[in-house]
Amino acid sequence: MVTPKGDIGLIGLAVMGQNLILNAADKGFTVVAYNRTVSKVDHFMDNEAKGKSIIGARSIEDLIANLKRPRRIVLLVKAGKPVDDFINQLLPHLDQGDIVIDGGNSHFPDSNRRYEELKQKGILFVGSGVSGGEEGARHGPSLMPGGHPDAWPHIKEIFQSIAAKSNGEPCCDWVGEAGAGHYVKMVHNGIEYGDMQLICEAYDLMKRVGKFSNKEIGDILSQWNKGVLDSFLIEITRDILYFNDPTDGKPLLEKILDSAGQKGTGKWTAINALDLGMPVTLIGEAVFSRCLSALKSERVRASSLLAGPATDGNESPIKDKKAFIDNLEQALYASKIISYAQGFMLIREAAKEFGWKLNNPAIALMWRGGCIIRSVFLAEITSAYRENPDLENLLFHPFFNQAIKKAQKGWRETVALAFTSGVPVPAFSTALSFYDGYRSARLPANLLQAQRDYFGAHTFKVLPGEENDYLKGDWIHVNWTGRG
Ligand code: NAP
Repeated sequence: MVTPKGDIGLIGLAVMGQNLILNAADKGFTVVAYNRTVSKVDHFMDNEAKGKSIIGARSIEDLIANLKRPRRIVLLVKAGKPVDDFINQLLPHLDQGDIVIDGGNSHFPDSNRRYEELKQKGILFVGSGVSGGEEGARHGPSLMPGGHPDAWPHIKEIFQSIAAKSNGEPCCDWVGEAGAGHYVKMVHNGIEYGDMQLICEAYDLMKRVGKFSNKEIGDILSQWNKGVLDSFLIEITRDILYFNDPTDGKPLLEKILDSAGQKGTGKWTAINALDLGMPVTLIGEAVFSRCLSALKSERVRASSLLAGPATDGNESPIKDKKAFIDNLEQALYASKIISYAQGFMLIREAAKEFGWKLNNPAIALMWRGGCIIRSVFLAEITSAYRENPDLENLLFHPFFNQAIKKAQKGWRETVALAFTSGVPVPAFSTALSFYDGYRSARLPANLLQAQRDYFGAHTFKVLPGEENDYLKGDWIHVNWTGRG
């Protein structure tokens, strides 16, 4: 028998799979490539893969026979049933200790299930978030692997070699058990929704209140990209603002229908936040903002029926444009801090709920490069969690605590201006409300509890020291009406 040469197998020769294979081959690994539609293997081998350390497999048996042990097989196929179908096809050919890695956008409960099912059979399952799209897959994605910890030593070298690098460090480390990798990827996508919505709100304010041209907004973003907001999303937004339709030289952006699409990962994050009782309000608002945008024809009707302050003149009401832009930058920065703080609150709660020991400093580092939310700001989050991996809340860390303190005035003025101007800022404003709620030692939930007890006898607790003969016991119900 010939000794197998394949370091890793990859099933799924669409955009992500092909690029990841080429990336791994460039790093010196021998990759065995397979696809359901076998003609795509032949095409790939005759073209992109030609002359590289890539072996084309024409069947599952062929794939298995070409892999060194323990076998490492990555699936990069459509999430859902195709993943289960391929696992079922692979199982009869696998040995104890072989590793199956799902690199697709799978929902984490599916990864939790697959981890358990494969564990029973002695197969090590890994669910890995892969971010950065086609470009990332080819030149260095952000990789977020989680699953059976015994798999990590066998895949670490390959994963860290092909991943993006940030200051020389790979944007890939072990996240945690079972579906933790896909969970963290889901929260990453939710945060991406939030970051995008925040930038959209800043653009809307600059346009509708500041009356800046697209070129001027592009220049402002260019400036912001040299400071604390330096990030991939600000950079691409600047490019979008500068982009003109070559047929008439007018800004292309203004010709795009304002109705947003979504694939569902932001919604998964928001739903999970509700399930776990975590106030991840910014991602929630970002998802709802997309939903509201999709009601285009209804909004057009409402625009002529519902009154509000006028924003459609050519003159900006803003006297000091520099202060307006500085305030807006602060609002964006502060809201972004809140969004990441909320994201990590959710991750922390999920770790408790699912019994995962998560690698918090590595999570921030993995988002530092290769992915859509990459930014300079994530370096500060990485340092904060490196200093204290069990940090209760990002807002308690001196760096973020001070940053938000400094940004507060501009943030509040921006939200107030948006409200008086009638321009919607759901993400800026929910971030501020969360901040004010989180820093309130006392909230009006005392009244809420009283209301619940009044109409539904749901009972309440009293503050320490307030117990007396009337207010006795752990959970108290009173007769609010005096009626029997
Ligand atoms: P894709 O369009 O999501 O999936 C195409 C691949 O799935 C092909 O190999 C296809 O095989 C296979 N497939 C589809 N239905 C199948 C079925 N019923 N049974 C078996 N195989 C089936 O490809 P992609 O865009 O490269 O993405 C791959 C995975 O990575 C997905 O989970 C995606 O969500 C995730 N992802 C994508 C991006 C991105 O930017 N595109 C970024 C991060 C993560 P055939 O050729 O035989 O049809």
